[in-house]
Amino acid sequence: METTVQDTGALAISGGEPVRQETLAYGGQTIGEDDIEAVTDVLRSDYLTTGPAVDAFEEAFSGFVGTEEAVAVSNGTAALHTAMQAVGIGPGDEVIIPTITFAATANSVIFEDGTPVFADVEPDTLLLDPESVAERITDDTKVIVGVDYAGQPCRYDALRELADTHDLTLLDDACHATGGSYKGEPVGSLADLNTFSFHPVKNMTTGEGGMITTDDSELASEMREFRNHGISSTHHERAEQGSWVYEIPEVGYNYRLTDMQCALGMSQLEKLPTWVKRRREIAARYDAAFAGVDAVEPITMRENSTCAYHLYVIQLNLDMLSVGREEVFDALQAEGIGVNVHYIPVHYHPFYRKNFNTGEGLCPVAEAAYERILTLPVFPRMTEEDVSDTIRAVRKVVAGYKL
Ligand SMILES: *Cc1c(COP(=O)(O)O)cnc(C)c1O
Repeated sequence: METTVQDTGALAISGGEPVRQETLAYGGQTIGEDDIEAVTDVLRSDYLTTGPAVDAFEEAFSGFVGTEEAVAVSNGTAALHTAMQAVGIGPGDEVIIPTITFAATANSVIFEDGTPVFADVEPDTLLLDPESVAERITDDTKVIVGVDYAGQPCRYDALRELADTHDLTLLDDACHATGGSYKGEPVGSLADLNTFSFHPVKNMTTGEGGMITTDDSELASEMREFRNHGISSTHHERAEQGSWVYEIPEVGYNYRLTDMQCALGMSQLEKLPTWVKRRREIAARYDAAFAGVDAVEPITMRENSTCAYHLYVIQLNLDMLSVGREEVFDALQAEGIGVNVHYIPVHYHPFYRKNFNTGEGLCPVAEAAYERILTLPVFPRMTEEDVSDTIRAVRKVVAGYKL
C-alpha cells in the first residue's frame, strides 16, 4: 500500500507541513489493567521484596527461555555486573565486547576492574564479528560478550566455537532480544550466561529490572548472594539456626528486584510473544516499504533467527544524499518522527579513550556504520497509521535530500 504514497511537499525543517503534529516516540511500554492489578495485589500482600513473586518470576522466566536458572536483579546493568562478578573478572582480565552497544556492557567489566576490549561488528547486521573477536583473543581474555543488537541474536555457533577453543565464558547481553530465537533455540539459552533488561523501552518492562539466565546452578546461587549484599545463608537456614546467623564470604550489592516489579514482570511475560509478533509485523511493513528506496538500507536479518525487534535500524546510503545522517535525523524529528541513533561506538567516549587508549581506527566497520545509522520507531502500541507516518516521513526526507 505504501508504494502509492507520494510526498512532494516541502520538508518540515524548511518550513513545510510536518507529517505529524505530535512526535511519535521511538519506543515505549505497554501496560494493561492486568499489569496494574498484578502490582496492586502485591501491595496488598505481606511481601514487598524478597517474597514469593521473586521466585515465581524467576521460575516463569527460566521456563520461558529454557534454562535451569534465572536470577532477578534490579536492572540490566546490575545483571551484567552480577554476571561479570560470577565469572570472576578482576584486574588484568580482558572481556571482548562489540563497540556498537550500550555503554553498560563495557562498564560492567570496569566495575570488577577488568578491561573491556572493543571488537568490530559485521557491516550488514552490526552484530559482533567473530573474526574480529578471534583477532583480539589473548592469554588474558576471559569472556566474550555477544550483544543481540536490535533484537537479532549474534552468530552463537561461531562464538561458541571460539569460546570452547580458548576456554572462555560466553555471555549474551540479550537486553534487546527478549522473545527472540536463534536456530530454534530461545534467546536466554544461547550462552553460558545471558542478561536481560526490563527498562520501559525494552521488549517487556518491570519499570527498572533485569535477569540473568544460566544452566549453572552453582553460579546462580553465587549470583543470588551477590544481589543480596553477599549474604550466604538463605532465609530458611537463618530460621533454623536463629535469625541472626548469616555469613558474608564475598562482598555483594543490593541489586534486589521487588515483588511488585516481579509481579509486573510475570504479567508482562505472558504477553511478550504477542508483542514480539507485533514488532515483527511493523518491521515487515518497513521492510516492504523501504525495498523500493535506494538510499535506505535496513540492517540485514538472518534466516536462521527470529529478531525480537527492540529496534528497527536503517543504514543510509549517504552517497545518494546531499546531506549526512545528522541532517536526516533533524529533518525526521521536524516531521514528527522520534528517530534515534543506537549507538555512538562505545570506544569513542572520552572515558574509554582516556583509560583504555581507544579512539578512531580501532573498529573501522562500526565507525563507518555509525555515520549512517538511524533507529525508527517500533513498539507494540504503534498504530498502522503511526507506521504509515514513519514510512511517509522517511520517503519524504530522503526524496528531499536526494542527489
Ligand atoms: C538497556 C541495555 C542495558 C542496560 O540495561 P538497564 O536496565 O538500563 O540497566 C545493557 N545492555 C544493552 C545492550 C541494553 O540495551
